[in-house]
Amino acid sequence: MIVFLDMKSAYTELKPELDAAYARVMESGWFVLGKEVEAFEAEYAAFCGTKHCVGLGNGLEALELCLRAWNLGSGDEVIVPSNTYIATWLAVTATDATIVPVEPTPAEPNIDPDRIAAAITSRTRAIMPVHLYGEPADMDAIMALAAKHGLKVIEDVAQAQGSKVRGRRAGALGHAGAHSFFPTKNIGAYGDGGAVTTDDAKLADRLRVLRNYGSKVKYVNIERGFNSRLDEMQAAFLRAKLKHLDAWNERRRAIAARYDDTLAGIPGLGLPRAPQWAEPVWHLYVVRTSRRAELMKALDKAGIGSLIHYPIPPHLQQAYAGLGLPKGTFPLAEDLAEKVLSLPMGPHMKLEQVDEVAKVVRATLV
Ligand SMILES: *Cc1c(COP(=O)(O)O)cnc(C)c1O
Repeated sequence: MIVFLDMKSAYTELKPELDAAYARVMESGWFVLGKEVEAFEAEYAAFCGTKHCVGLGNGLEALELCLRAWNLGSGDEVIVPSNTYIATWLAVTATDATIVPVEPTPAEPNIDPDRIAAAITSRTRAIMPVHLYGEPADMDAIMALAAKHGLKVIEDVAQAQGSKVRGRRAGALGHAGAHSFFPTKNIGAYGDGGAVTTDDAKLADRLRVLRNYGSKVKYVNIERGFNSRLDEMQAAFLRAKLKHLDAWNERRRAIAARYDDTLAGIPGLGLPRAPQWAEPVWHLYVVRTSRRAELMKALDKAGIGSLIHYPIPPHLQQAYAGLGLPKGTFPLAEDLAEKVLSLPMGPHMKLEQVDEVAKVVRATLV
């Protein structure tokens, strides 16, 4: 049996460090907004190469609070990928801003800068690129467009912690980066967690107010805030895991390389191809095939986990039926939704297991 993501081995490997983190927080008697969060924020900002990091409740709220901190709302347009997890869209619509979905490039899962350029109007205020599957979006092109039109850029880094574009980390490439520490992400907590990284001191300051009931001084509320705080326990776990993030991403790279080798030349099977300038971190290894149902069934029969990221694009979800974007509106995203399949991937997968998966894929499709 090969599980899709081996969470248990991650705990086994880090057990002494995680157990020590747990004990440290329990013995401190302090659980929300304290020393662990402060230390993690400093360490994670240093890791990403930004001046600031603000720990938040989860990735969705990291995206949403950023837009709120920039005062975006009704009448403002935010450009988002048509091909993404629904959280990206939910963050925008939560603020009452208008969603402007843009299709991916034909070869990559990520938003196409040329199509972004075509979608910019006088109401556009921000671009929200997603580094899907751990592969950075074309941030050089996106930042050039943003500079030209005076737009804010917030990266959705939920799937790409540690990835780089020309040596610079995701989360430090836009005006802000929103991170999720959901347990299955490349750096995952043991519960929910999120953060924003930025060089913008004003933004960081506003986020600290927004996350804590609109308050800087206890019981003095300068605006209508939220409750969205990374807690001490999760911060302590994340500090332990951050020390291993680069090494664990390196292991994902080795697995991706092995998949590339062992899956090469299978007719009708599209393999992920990151651009030259990108250093992906392989949150997922996503292949494309029009024979997906058959392949999933064969993998399942062999005891191999596989998942679809994602089976229904946001515009076709019932949640967004009100936007009036029927099937056919975003053909590239729709085509991907029908063909993508994520194979097992994670820092605790063994290369021999990759070979086993590849054998089943080849036997099914060739
Ligand atoms: C996981 C994820 C999010 C949301 O993160 P949560 O912490 O679960 O709220 C946002 N965007 C993308 C692309 C994600 O994969």
